[in-house]
Amino acid sequence: MKKYTFIFAGAGLSSLMTVYEMIQSGSFSEQKILLIDANSKITNDKTWSFWEKESGDFDAILAKKYETANFKSSRYSRKLDLQPYIYKTVRAVDFYKKMFELINQQPNIEFLEAQISNFSESEKGIVVETNLGVFHGEKLFNSLYNPNLVLSQTKFPLVQQHFIGWFIKSKESVFTPETATFMDFSIPQKDTTRFMYVLPTSSTEALLEYTLFSPTLLNKEEYEIGIKDYIKKLGISEYEIVEKEHGNIPMTCYPFWKDNTQNILNIGSAGGWTKASTGYTFKNTTKKSKEVVRFLQNHSDFRKFHRKDKFWFYDLLLIHILFHKNEIGSSIFSSMFRKVKASLIFKFLDEETSLGQDLKVIWQCPKMPFLNALFSRIFK
Ligand SMILES: Cc1cc2nc3c(=O)[nH]c(=O)nc-3n(C[C@H](O)[C@H](O)[C@H](O)COP(=O)(O)OP(=O)(O)OC[C@H]3O[C@@H](n4cnc5c(N)ncnc54)[C@H](O)[C@@H]3O)c2cc1C
Repeated sequence: MKKYTFIFAGAGLSSLMTVYEMIQSGSFSEQKILLIDANSKITNDKTWSFWEKESGDFDAILAKKYETANFKSSRYSRKLDLQPYIYKTVRAVDFYKKMFELINQQPNIEFLEAQISNFSESEKGIVVETNLGVFHGEKLFNSLYNPNLVLSQTKFPLVQQHFIGWFIKSKESVFTPETATFMDFSIPQKDTTRFMYVLPTSSTEALLEYTLFSPTLLNKEEYEIGIKDYIKKLGISEYEIVEKEHGNIPMTCYPFWKDNTQNILNIGSAGGWTKASTGYTFKNTTKKSKEVVRFLQNHSDFRKFHRKDKFWFYDLLLIHILFHKNEIGSSIFSSMFRKVKASLIFKFLDEETSLGQDLKVIWQCPKMPFLNALFSRIFK
């Protein structure tokens, strides 16, 4: 029986990034590694955006980068200078290609296209069951998100970032290619938190996403009507849909780390690597994957891979508000983006700010909802 040192359940963002860091470290070339995914990872299933100062590991495969971005509410519109950050966009297919080109050069790493039905841990190690057989290993990295873990409890509410995006080519030149639109809250809120996210690639081409931060999903038609209305509002009379994407990203402070065991580490969205207050995962994954590789150099018990800090608590308050008073989301984000510099907001979301800087951001938000949330959480 062949036994692997590390098995990755899923070969999406977090697994590939962790394997990439393992290869970069040069410390794992003697270990047998198996990646298992039901999908061959050769199509563009999403577009990732993230912010970064100066250059980064993925600059060679960027689809687009922005130095400015718009924020719009029903009351004001602001053009944000992102410096010293750059907002970068990577097409998932280019990321997978880059990762697999590197992985395929490693004699110790295998990829298996198979459906995983179960995995477990015993005294002898870990076992992964698939439609193509059973695989044994010492350690498992699991990136298969199990929504039931969050849905079966009420202590940590679940808000979802759900959206449908259309990449369109329009007849009219209406887009400003060098400026992204992070959040346009000028669309009807319908007692929820909803906005348009726009990533233009030329004056006639852009990805338009009708996005909600809310507990409940919509019917497909509702997102699509929202996109069509926005296209009309932009003054576009004719357009072609080049590509479509959809997503449903968990925004929760559920303590995923509690489900880690000695030999199973939950990673990616399944491990709580998604920033609860924004749904952004890419940037956090670049950090967490480096952390995992450093951790492996000195530790072997995955139950110790965890750090809970003030940012987790800030996110918990925001998610509490968005869950219980979803209709005020627009006013919270609008207050924050109205006065705070984009660079400070990015630093705050990257969890790199001091307490003084945290207060500069939080102070701009409506106070009562946060005080109420604080009170509720303390007595929960
Ligand atoms: C459309 C979309 C756009 C997004 N855009 C952004 C963005 O702009 N910026 C950002 O920071 N985040 C974004 N996210 C959030 C986040 O970055 C992604 O969801 C990211 O892919 C999460 O990484 P992961 O490793 O947790 O999961 P995944 O990348 O989804 O990897 C999990 C893998 O497990 C495989 N799998 C699942 N079940 C099984 C099974 N039973 N057997 C075998 N394989 C299985 C899947 O095929 C998949 O490859 C987006 C998400 C979506 C859906």
